[in-house]
Amino acid sequence: MAEESLKSSPLLPTFARAELSFERGEGAWLVTDRGERYLDFGSGIAVNALGHCHPHLVEALTDQAKKLWHVSNLYQIPNGRDLAQRLVDNTFADHVFFTNSGAEALECAIKMARKYHHANGQPERYRIITFEGAFHGRTLATIAAGGQKKYLEGFGPKVEGFDQVPFGDHEALKAAIGPETGAILIEPIQGEGGVRPVPPQCLRGLRELCDEHGLLLIFDEVQTGVGRTGKLFAHQKYGVTPDIMAIAKGIGGGFPMGACLSTAEAGKGMTAGVHGTTFGGNPLAMAVGNAVLDVILEPGFLDKVERTALLMKQRLAELCDRHPTVIEGVRGEGLLIGLKCVVPNTDLAAAARKEHLLSVPAGDNVLRLLPPLIIGEAEVAAALASLDRAASALEAAAMKGAAE
Ligand SMILES: *Cc1c(COP(=O)(O)O)cnc(C)c1O
Repeated sequence: MAEESLKSSPLLPTFARAELSFERGEGAWLVTDRGERYLDFGSGIAVNALGHCHPHLVEALTDQAKKLWHVSNLYQIPNGRDLAQRLVDNTFADHVFFTNSGAEALECAIKMARKYHHANGQPERYRIITFEGAFHGRTLATIAAGGQKKYLEGFGPKVEGFDQVPFGDHEALKAAIGPETGAILIEPIQGEGGVRPVPPQCLRGLRELCDEHGLLLIFDEVQTGVGRTGKLFAHQKYGVTPDIMAIAKGIGGGFPMGACLSTAEAGKGMTAGVHGTTFGGNPLAMAVGNAVLDVILEPGFLDKVERTALLMKQRLAELCDRHPTVIEGVRGEGLLIGLKCVVPNTDLAAAARKEHLLSVPAGDNVLRLLPPLIIGEAEVAAALASLDRAASALEAAAMKGAAE
Protein backbone atom coordinates (compact mmCIF):
# COMPACT_ATOMS: atom_id res chain seq x y z
CA MET A 1 0.00 0.00 0.00
CA ALA A 2 2.67 2.48 1.10
CA GLU A 3 4.83 1.38 -1.82
CA GLU A 4 1.92 1.90 -4.19
CA SER A 5 1.07 5.36 -2.89
CA LEU A 6 4.72 6.42 -3.16
CA LYS A 7 4.91 5.31 -6.78
CA SER A 8 1.81 7.16 -7.76
CA SER A 9 2.74 10.35 -5.94
CA PRO A 10 3.27 13.42 -8.12
CA LEU A 11 5.84 14.65 -5.58
CA LEU A 12 9.51 14.21 -6.33
CA PRO A 13 10.38 11.33 -4.00
CA THR A 14 13.24 13.07 -2.15
CA PHE A 15 11.60 12.58 1.26
CA ALA A 16 10.86 9.35 3.10
CA ARG A 17 7.56 10.42 4.61
CA ALA A 18 5.68 8.77 7.46
CA GLU A 19 2.15 7.61 6.64
CA LEU A 20 0.65 10.40 8.69
CA SER A 21 -1.30 13.38 7.50
CA PHE A 22 -2.30 16.21 9.80
CA GLU A 23 -5.34 18.36 9.35
CA ARG A 24 -4.97 20.92 12.09
CA GLY A 25 -2.85 21.93 15.04
CA GLU A 26 -3.41 23.50 18.43
CA GLY A 27 -0.41 24.54 20.50
CA ALA A 28 1.89 21.55 20.91
CA TRP A 29 -0.70 19.14 19.45
CA LEU A 30 -1.37 17.97 15.91
CA VAL A 31 -4.58 16.26 14.83
CA THR A 32 -4.63 13.78 11.93
CA ASP A 33 -7.27 13.50 9.23
CA ARG A 34 -8.65 10.60 11.32
CA GLY A 35 -8.95 12.74 14.43
CA GLU A 36 -5.97 11.22 16.26
CA ARG A 37 -3.90 13.56 18.43
CA TYR A 38 -0.09 13.64 18.37
CA LEU A 39 2.17 15.59 20.71
CA ASP A 40 4.49 17.53 18.42
CA PHE A 41 8.04 17.50 19.85
CA GLY A 42 9.51 18.01 16.38
CA SER A 43 7.90 21.39 15.67
CA GLY A 44 8.35 20.93 11.92
CA ILE A 45 12.10 20.67 12.59
CA ALA A 46 12.43 23.50 15.11
CA VAL A 47 10.20 25.83 13.13
CA ASN A 48 6.91 26.13 15.03
CA ALA A 49 8.51 27.96 17.95
CA LEU A 50 5.11 29.03 19.31
CA GLY A 51 3.32 25.80 18.47
CA HIS A 52 0.48 25.53 15.99
CA CYS A 53 -1.97 28.32 15.30
CA HIS A 54 -0.84 30.58 18.10
CA PRO A 55 -3.66 33.17 18.34
CA HIS A 56 -1.29 36.15 18.14
CA LEU A 57 0.34 34.77 14.99
CA VAL A 58 -2.99 33.90 13.38
CA GLU A 59 -4.22 37.43 14.06
CA ALA A 60 -1.05 39.06 12.70
CA LEU A 61 -1.15 36.92 9.56
CA THR A 62 -4.84 37.40 8.81
CA ASP A 63 -4.75 41.15 9.54
CA GLN A 64 -1.82 41.59 7.17
CA ALA A 65 -3.40 39.27 4.58
CA LYS A 66 -6.34 41.66 4.31
CA LYS A 67 -4.05 44.64 3.71
CA LEU A 68 -0.99 43.76 1.64
CA TRP A 69 1.01 40.61 0.88
CA HIS A 70 3.86 41.49 -1.41
CA VAL A 71 5.30 44.58 -3.05
CA SER A 72 8.97 43.59 -3.76
CA ASN A 73 12.06 45.28 -2.42
CA LEU A 74 11.70 48.09 -4.94
CA TYR A 75 9.66 49.87 -2.27
CA GLN A 76 9.79 50.69 1.43
CA ILE A 77 8.43 47.94 3.69
CA PRO A 78 7.86 49.58 7.07
CA ASN A 79 7.07 46.43 9.07
CA GLY A 80 10.28 44.88 7.69
CA ARG A 81 12.25 47.88 8.83
CA ASP A 82 10.64 47.49 12.26
CA LEU A 83 11.52 43.81 12.45
CA ALA A 84 15.11 44.52 11.38
CA GLN A 85 15.36 47.24 14.03
CA ARG A 86 14.13 44.86 16.73
CA LEU A 87 16.67 42.21 15.69
CA VAL A 88 19.39 44.87 15.72
CA ASP A 89 18.29 46.14 19.15
CA ASN A 90 18.47 42.63 20.58
CA THR A 91 21.76 41.43 19.03
CA PHE A 92 25.31 42.37 18.01
CA ALA A 93 24.06 43.30 14.54
CA ASP A 94 23.76 46.63 12.71
CA HIS A 95 22.02 45.33 9.57
CA VAL A 96 19.56 42.63 8.51
CA PHE A 97 18.89 41.03 5.11
CA PHE A 98 15.66 39.00 4.95
CA THR A 99 15.42 35.71 3.05
CA ASN A 100 12.88 32.89 2.61
CA SER A 101 14.92 30.07 4.12
CA GLY A 102 17.94 29.08 6.13
CA ALA A 103 20.05 28.12 3.13
CA GLU A 104 19.45 31.53 1.56
CA ALA A 105 20.45 33.24 4.80
CA LEU A 106 23.70 31.22 4.67
CA GLU A 107 24.21 32.09 1.00
CA CYS A 108 24.00 35.75 1.98
CA ALA A 109 26.46 35.19 4.84
CA ILE A 110 28.95 33.44 2.55
CA LYS A 111 28.70 36.10 -0.16
CA MET A 112 29.02 38.84 2.45
CA ALA A 113 32.21 37.34 3.89
CA ARG A 114 33.78 37.13 0.43
CA LYS A 115 32.67 40.63 -0.49
CA TYR A 116 34.10 42.02 2.76
CA HIS A 117 37.62 40.91 1.88
CA HIS A 118 37.10 42.03 -1.70
CA ALA A 119 36.16 45.49 -0.41
CA ASN A 120 39.34 45.43 1.70
CA GLY A 121 41.42 44.81 -1.40
CA GLN A 122 42.03 41.14 -0.54
CA PRO A 123 39.76 39.24 -2.96
CA GLU A 124 41.97 36.14 -2.58
CA ARG A 125 40.61 35.63 0.94
CA TYR A 126 37.46 33.86 -0.19
CA ARG A 127 37.92 30.55 1.64
CA ILE A 128 35.76 29.61 4.63
CA ILE A 129 36.58 27.04 7.29
CA THR A 130 33.71 24.76 8.36
CA PHE A 131 33.40 21.75 10.67
CA GLU A 132 32.78 18.03 10.24
CA GLY A 133 29.18 17.11 10.99
CA ALA A 134 27.94 20.58 10.04
CA PHE A 135 24.70 21.25 8.23
CA HIS A 136 24.10 24.55 6.47
CA GLY A 137 21.40 23.77 3.88
CA ARG A 138 20.94 22.14 0.46
CA THR A 139 21.98 24.73 -2.11
CA LEU A 140 25.20 24.09 -4.03
CA ALA A 141 27.24 26.42 -1.81
CA THR A 142 25.72 25.24 1.45
CA ILE A 143 26.24 21.52 0.71
CA ALA A 144 29.87 22.42 -0.01
CA ALA A 145 30.00 24.27 3.32
CA GLY A 146 28.41 21.32 5.14
CA GLY A 147 30.86 19.00 3.43
CA GLN A 148 28.77 15.84 3.88
CA LYS A 149 29.41 13.22 1.23
CA LYS A 150 25.81 12.00 1.19
CA TYR A 151 24.56 15.47 0.21
CA LEU A 152 27.37 16.25 -2.28
CA GLU A 153 27.48 13.00 -4.21
CA GLY A 154 26.31 13.16 -7.80
CA PHE A 155 25.82 16.91 -7.88
CA GLY A 156 28.95 17.73 -9.85
CA PRO A 157 32.01 19.65 -8.75
CA LYS A 158 31.80 20.88 -5.18
CA VAL A 159 31.62 24.67 -4.92
CA GLU A 160 35.16 25.90 -4.30
CA GLY A 161 36.28 27.65 -1.18
CA PHE A 162 35.34 25.54 1.83
CA ASP A 163 37.88 23.81 4.06
CA GLN A 164 36.53 21.39 6.58
CA VAL A 165 38.24 20.54 9.88
CA PRO A 166 37.33 17.96 12.56
CA PHE A 167 34.86 19.04 15.24
CA GLY A 168 36.60 20.24 18.41
CA ASP A 169 40.18 20.03 17.09
CA HIS A 170 41.71 23.44 17.77
CA GLU A 171 45.13 22.50 16.36
CA ALA A 172 43.67 21.28 13.05
CA LEU A 173 41.68 24.49 12.88
CA LYS A 174 44.76 26.65 13.40
CA ALA A 175 46.64 24.65 10.77
CA ALA A 176 43.83 25.17 8.27
CA ILE A 177 44.07 28.97 8.37
CA GLY A 178 45.99 30.16 5.34
CA PRO A 179 46.49 33.36 3.32
CA GLU A 180 43.23 32.69 1.43
CA THR A 181 41.10 32.11 4.53
CA GLY A 182 38.45 34.76 5.04
CA ALA A 183 36.00 33.39 7.59
CA ILE A 184 35.01 30.61 9.96
CA LEU A 185 31.45 29.27 9.80
CA ILE A 186 30.00 27.25 12.67
CA GLU A 187 26.75 26.22 14.37
CA PRO A 188 27.09 26.98 18.12
CA ILE A 189 25.29 23.67 18.59
CA GLN A 190 25.25 21.25 15.66
CA GLY A 191 21.60 20.39 15.07
CA GLU A 192 21.38 17.90 12.20
CA GLY A 193 24.83 16.65 13.24
CA GLY A 194 23.36 15.26 16.45
CA VAL A 195 22.85 18.10 18.96
CA ARG A 196 26.57 18.54 19.50
CA PRO A 197 27.30 21.74 21.47
CA VAL A 198 30.57 23.52 20.79
CA PRO A 199 32.19 23.98 24.23
CA PRO A 200 32.02 27.69 25.27
CA GLN A 201 35.82 27.90 25.58
CA CYS A 202 36.09 26.73 21.95
CA LEU A 203 33.69 29.44 20.81
CA ARG A 204 35.78 32.00 22.67
CA GLY A 205 38.89 30.49 21.08
CA LEU A 206 37.30 30.92 17.65
CA ARG A 207 36.61 34.58 18.31
CA GLU A 208 40.23 35.12 19.35
CA LEU A 209 41.55 33.31 16.28
CA CYS A 210 39.31 35.38 14.02
CA ASP A 211 40.46 38.63 15.62
CA GLU A 212 44.09 37.59 15.41
CA HIS A 213 43.90 36.67 11.71
CA GLY A 214 41.38 39.24 10.48
CA LEU A 215 38.76 36.56 9.78
CA LEU A 216 35.00 36.98 10.00
CA LEU A 217 33.19 34.74 12.45
CA ILE A 218 29.88 33.47 11.05
CA PHE A 219 27.37 31.72 13.30
CA ASP A 220 24.69 29.53 11.76
CA GLU A 221 21.84 29.92 14.26
CA VAL A 222 19.16 28.71 11.87
CA GLN A 223 18.24 25.95 14.33
CA THR A 224 19.58 27.30 17.65
CA GLY A 225 18.15 30.81 17.31
CA VAL A 226 14.95 32.59 18.29
CA GLY A 227 14.64 31.26 21.83
CA ARG A 228 15.32 27.57 21.15
CA THR A 229 18.14 27.37 23.72
CA GLY A 230 16.47 29.61 26.30
CA LYS A 231 18.25 32.76 25.11
CA LEU A 232 17.14 34.70 22.04
CA PHE A 233 20.30 33.39 20.33
CA ALA A 234 22.52 30.56 21.56
CA HIS A 235 25.75 32.57 21.40
CA GLN A 236 24.30 35.07 23.87
CA LYS A 237 24.60 32.32 26.49
CA TYR A 238 28.33 32.16 26.00
CA GLY A 239 29.11 35.86 25.55
CA VAL A 240 30.80 35.25 22.18
CA THR A 241 29.70 37.53 19.35
CA PRO A 242 29.89 36.75 15.62
CA ASP A 243 30.35 39.23 12.79
CA ILE A 244 27.64 37.60 10.71
CA MET A 245 24.74 35.35 11.71
CA ALA A 246 22.24 33.33 9.68
CA ILE A 247 18.83 32.65 11.20
CA ALA A 248 15.57 31.11 9.90
CA LYS A 249 13.35 28.27 11.22
CA GLY A 250 11.87 29.75 14.44
CA ILE A 251 11.72 33.39 13.30
CA GLY A 252 8.75 32.69 11.03
CA GLY A 253 6.95 30.41 13.49
CA GLY A 254 5.93 28.34 10.44
CA PHE A 255 5.92 31.07 7.81
CA PRO A 256 8.93 30.50 5.52
CA MET A 257 11.52 33.16 6.31
CA GLY A 258 15.12 33.69 7.32
CA ALA A 259 17.60 36.49 7.78
CA CYS A 260 21.28 37.31 7.63
CA LEU A 261 22.42 39.67 10.40
CA SER A 262 25.75 41.46 10.39
CA THR A 263 27.84 44.23 11.83
CA ALA A 264 28.23 47.33 9.65
CA GLU A 265 31.91 46.45 9.18
CA ALA A 266 31.29 42.87 7.99
CA GLY A 267 28.54 44.07 5.68
CA LYS A 268 30.46 46.96 4.18
CA GLY A 269 30.80 45.32 0.74
CA MET A 270 27.07 44.72 0.41
CA THR A 271 26.10 47.90 -1.41
CA ALA A 272 23.07 48.64 -3.61
CA GLY A 273 22.56 46.02 -6.30
CA VAL A 274 25.17 43.46 -5.24
CA HIS A 275 22.69 41.01 -3.70
CA GLY A 276 18.93 40.59 -3.82
CA THR A 277 15.75 38.58 -3.40
CA THR A 278 12.26 38.83 -4.87
CA PHE A 279 10.25 37.42 -1.97
CA GLY A 280 12.55 37.99 0.99
CA GLY A 281 11.15 40.38 3.60
CA ASN A 282 7.69 40.74 2.10
CA PRO A 283 4.99 42.36 4.26
CA LEU A 284 3.25 39.06 5.04
CA ALA A 285 6.43 37.40 6.30
CA MET A 286 7.42 40.52 8.22
CA ALA A 287 4.04 40.70 9.98
CA VAL A 288 4.51 37.14 11.21
CA GLY A 289 8.16 37.66 12.18
CA ASN A 290 7.18 40.68 14.27
CA ALA A 291 4.40 38.69 15.93
CA VAL A 292 6.84 35.88 16.82
CA LEU A 293 9.16 38.42 18.45
CA ASP A 294 6.24 40.05 20.29
CA VAL A 295 5.76 36.78 22.16
CA ILE A 296 9.36 35.64 22.57
CA LEU A 297 10.60 39.03 23.79
CA GLU A 298 7.80 39.34 26.34
CA PRO A 299 9.44 39.60 29.80
CA GLY A 300 9.62 36.16 31.40
CA PHE A 301 9.00 34.12 28.24
CA LEU A 302 12.57 32.90 27.81
CA ASP A 303 12.96 32.35 31.59
CA LYS A 304 10.04 29.95 31.38
CA VAL A 305 11.67 28.17 28.43
CA GLU A 306 14.79 27.67 30.57
CA ARG A 307 12.76 26.34 33.51
CA THR A 308 10.76 23.97 31.33
CA ALA A 309 13.95 22.77 29.65
CA LEU A 310 15.56 22.06 33.02
CA LEU A 311 12.55 20.06 34.15
CA MET A 312 12.50 18.13 30.91
CA LYS A 313 16.20 17.32 31.10
CA GLN A 314 15.83 16.03 34.67
CA ARG A 315 12.94 13.82 33.67
CA LEU A 316 14.84 12.59 30.60
CA ALA A 317 17.90 11.74 32.73
CA GLU A 318 15.62 9.56 34.90
CA LEU A 319 14.21 7.96 31.76
CA CYS A 320 17.74 7.25 30.57
CA ASP A 321 18.53 5.56 33.93
CA ARG A 322 15.41 3.39 33.63
CA HIS A 323 16.15 2.32 30.03
CA PRO A 324 19.93 1.99 29.67
CA THR A 325 19.62 -0.48 26.78
CA VAL A 326 17.63 2.09 24.77
CA ILE A 327 19.05 5.54 25.64
CA GLU A 328 22.55 6.28 26.86
CA GLY A 329 22.52 10.02 27.41
CA VAL A 330 20.79 13.38 27.17
CA ARG A 331 22.41 16.49 25.69
CA GLY A 332 21.65 19.94 24.30
CA GLU A 333 20.68 23.39 25.49
CA GLY A 334 17.24 24.66 26.34
CA LEU A 335 14.59 22.96 24.23
CA LEU A 336 17.10 21.71 21.66
CA ILE A 337 17.50 18.30 23.24
CA GLY A 338 19.23 15.20 21.93
CA LEU A 339 18.78 11.65 23.19
CA LYS A 340 21.88 9.64 22.39
CA CYS A 341 20.43 6.24 21.52
CA VAL A 342 21.70 2.70 22.04
CA VAL A 343 19.10 1.27 19.66
CA PRO A 344 18.91 2.87 16.19
CA ASN A 345 17.50 6.39 16.67
CA THR A 346 14.93 5.74 13.94
CA ASP A 347 13.60 2.76 15.96
CA LEU A 348 13.05 4.99 18.98
CA ALA A 349 11.44 7.64 16.77
CA ALA A 350 9.06 5.03 15.31
CA ALA A 351 8.25 3.59 18.74
CA ALA A 352 7.56 7.09 20.08
CA ARG A 353 5.36 7.85 17.08
CA LYS A 354 3.32 4.73 17.91
CA GLU A 355 2.83 6.38 21.31
CA HIS A 356 1.70 9.54 19.52
CA LEU A 357 4.85 11.54 20.20
CA LEU A 358 6.67 13.19 17.28
CA SER A 359 10.44 13.71 17.32
CA VAL A 360 13.21 14.17 14.74
CA PRO A 361 16.22 11.87 14.18
CA ALA A 362 19.66 13.49 13.81
CA GLY A 363 23.22 12.36 13.09
CA ASP A 364 25.41 10.47 15.59
CA ASN A 365 22.44 8.17 16.39
CA VAL A 366 20.68 10.94 18.29
CA LEU A 367 16.94 11.54 18.51
CA ARG A 368 16.02 15.23 18.72
CA LEU A 369 13.26 16.61 20.90
CA LEU A 370 12.40 20.10 19.68
CA PRO A 371 9.09 20.98 21.33
CA PRO A 372 7.40 24.32 20.77
CA LEU A 373 8.75 26.87 23.26
CA ILE A 374 5.27 27.35 24.73
CA ILE A 375 5.06 23.91 26.38
CA GLY A 376 4.57 23.54 30.12
CA GLU A 377 4.69 20.76 32.72
CA ALA A 378 1.68 18.93 31.29
CA GLU A 379 3.28 18.49 27.86
CA VAL A 380 6.59 17.45 29.43
CA ALA A 381 4.78 14.80 31.48
CA ALA A 382 2.85 13.53 28.44
CA ALA A 383 6.01 13.32 26.33
CA LEU A 384 7.88 11.46 29.06
CA ALA A 385 5.05 8.97 29.48
CA SER A 386 5.10 8.29 25.72
CA LEU A 387 8.87 7.89 25.67
CA ASP A 388 8.72 5.56 28.67
CA ARG A 389 6.18 3.33 26.90
CA ALA A 390 8.16 3.50 23.66
CA ALA A 391 11.40 2.46 25.41
CA SER A 392 9.59 -0.36 27.25
CA ALA A 393 8.17 -1.62 23.95
CA LEU A 394 11.66 -1.67 22.41
CA GLU A 395 13.01 -3.55 25.45
CA ALA A 396 10.20 -6.09 25.24
CA ALA A 397 10.84 -6.59 21.52
CA ALA A 398 14.58 -7.09 22.18
CA MET A 399 13.83 -9.69 24.92
CA LYS A 400 11.50 -11.52 22.59
CA GLY A 401 14.13 -11.41 19.84
CA ALA A 402 16.77 -12.81 22.24
CA ALA A 403 14.44 -15.63 23.41
CA GLU A 404 13.73 -16.80 19.85
C1 LIG B 1 17.67 23.81 8.72
C2 LIG B 1 19.03 24.36 8.73
C3 LIG B 1 19.56 25.04 7.61
C4 LIG B 1 18.84 25.12 6.29
O1 LIG B 1 17.63 25.79 6.38
P1 LIG B 1 16.58 25.65 5.16
O2 LIG B 1 15.48 26.59 5.56
O3 LIG B 1 16.16 24.22 5.11
O4 LIG B 1 17.27 26.06 3.93
C5 LIG B 1 20.82 25.60 7.73
N1 LIG B 1 21.52 25.52 8.87
C6 LIG B 1 21.04 24.87 9.96
C7 LIG B 1 21.86 24.84 11.20
C8 LIG B 1 19.79 24.27 9.92
O5 LIG B 1 19.35 23.60 10.99
